[in-house]
Amino acid sequence: MINQNEDIITYFKKLDRSFFMEELKEFAFLDEAIPIGHEQTISQPSLVLEMTLAIDLQPDSKVLEIGTGSGYQTALLAAFSDSVYTIERIAPLHERAKERLKKAGFSNIHFKLDDGSTGWEKHAPYNRIMVTAAAAQVPPELIDQLAIGGKMIIPVGTPLLQELLLLKKDEDGEIRTTVLEDVRFVPLKGKYE
Ligand code: SAM
Repeated sequence: MINQNEDIITYFKKLDRSFFMEELKEFAFLDEAIPIGHEQTISQPSLVLEMTLAIDLQPDSKVLEIGTGSGYQTALLAAFSDSVYTIERIAPLHERAKERLKKAGFSNIHFKLDDGSTGWEKHAPYNRIMVTAAAAQVPPELIDQLAIGGKMIIPVGTPLLQELLLLKKDEDGEIRTTVLEDVRFVPLKGKYE
């Protein structure tokens, strides 16, 4: 696990964040969320790393990501798991992320343009689920789509402030929830706004 974390940190440090941006590239070095158009943001790098480490990726993990955005977080997920299913609701962001990640050589990412607030049932169950937009509650559909032994990270709260939750589904199907920290994400549109 220590090695896995070290590998993730090394990869993260080498990942050129500006590659995932069309504008404002000169601000890519800042440890802040930066606008990527359509009222959305590329996430804060330290938070992307933190969430990637906290979700405990395994080489055989099948991961669901909701909120592809620029594809920055998607790249980290895909580099350390078996496959990533990622959903984005804004067409130009979805298209650009898809182009970038293909250009970067990823072949284990499946993209969908849709409202992902109720997940992607067709390919469930997932070993890991990462939601990168803020919901008012944990969507029950996502809990259903989480595999036994699986882990999910999701910001839950009001549009202005959320708690970043780590949920684990035990062998008996029980959900155990840990609060990681306070965060502020753009809203998860759809059923659980
Ligand atoms: N982690 C991404 C990155 O670093 O570029 C940033 C994600 S951004 C904070 C949240 C993304 O979630 C936005 O691109 C937004 O359009 C998307 N989003 C919001 N609601 C969604 C929904 N219901 N289904 C799919 N994507 C959604």
